[in-house]
Amino acid sequence: MNAKANILGRDYEIKLCKLPKTLHGDTDMDNGVVRLNYRKDSIVETFVHEVIHAALYESGLTHILGQTEGLEEAIVRAIEHGLKTANLIPEELPLELDTCFPLDPDDRAGSPEDASDHPQG
Ligand SMILES: [Zn+2]
Repeated sequence: MNAKANILGRDYEIKLCKLPKTLHGDTDMDNGVVRLNYRKDSIVETFVHEVIHAALYESGLTHILGQTEGLEEAIVRAIEHGLKTANLIPEELPLELDTCFPLDPDDRAGSPEDASDHPQG
């Protein structure tokens, strides 16, 4: 069974995936799939971040914001940070997540090589 989240009326699949180390997550708007990098320790924040992107997309705002380089990402980060400082981001996701493929349990978040990563999708 796939984990799904309804974002402004559309069901998105939510998956844990092995993504490039510089990515916390991304959202495939065409196929309605949110992918979260299982090697990161900020999976809940990334989920919230990607939900905000999806909400902007579903509302049609992505198209407008896309006319100014970097504006959508700045807005998404501000909202995500505001939710975090207001303690509105839960400790754990209220979802059982599927994986993109069988994951190696030894290859988890928190390795030193991940420490300098910062961008989010
Ligand atoms: Zn982003």
